[in-house]
Amino acid sequence: MRLILLGAPGAGKGTVAKMLTAIDGSVQISTGDILRAAVKAGSALGQKAEAFMKAGDLVPDSLIMDIMGERLQAADCQAGFLLDGFPRTIPQAEALKELLGKLGLTLDAAVSLEVPREVILDRLTTRRTCVDCSAIYNVKSNPPKQDGICDKCGAKVIQRDDETEEAISNRLEVYNAKTAPLVGFYSKEGLLLNVNATSSEVVVAQIKSHLGIA
Ligand code: AMP
Repeated sequence: MRLILLGAPGAGKGTVAKMLTAIDGSVQISTGDILRAAVKAGSALGQKAEAFMKAGDLVPDSLIMDIMGERLQAADCQAGFLLDGFPRTIPQAEALKELLGKLGLTLDAAVSLEVPREVILDRLTTRRTCVDCSAIYNVKSNPPKQDGICDKCGAKVIQRDDETEEAISNRLEVYNAKTAPLVGFYSKEGLLLNVNATSSEVVVAQIKSHLGIA
């Protein structure tokens, strides 16, 4: 399947993407994970992106399109892809449309994960992430078995730099100003699927039913 997962930070895009990969081998492509890996490695891309990310601002469109132009042509994308956190601006959505046109690929849907603001704030302030495999935990509802250690790979589980209250409130403002308009963009493209995303299992079930997957 080829899907875009839209939704505010904390709407559950990453969790849903991970659940969907198990269905048909489609790959999860998270621009946030790619950028965090680049920052950790200290690469040229990471150095350019770091300050934007720490503040909860968006990384410039040109950098994101350089990453995605290459990533979408990798061999593993032939099985399908789940775009998690991309596109995030109208120019990125337009550039993606052009890129997919050149590659001769079409999207199955742009799924908008709708979650009330209080749920988002609670999820983000209690979310913890593995520094190595990006597994996601929650201090209240899904803590790692051993405090601060990833169950899956044994690496450290931390609160992300951009999950302080100040950065979160900026990320939500940036989302409303720059990313929320994509819902209208994909509605006009005839690709929008709106889902109530309070439960990831329900989201996956709705996507499967929309795509006619048993
Ligand atoms: P995420 O993990 O998707 O919340 O992304 C973390 C941070 O990476 C964002 O707050 C942005 O600074 C940056 N980022 C990720 N994806 C994009 C994108 N498509 N466009 C611009 N910045 C992005």
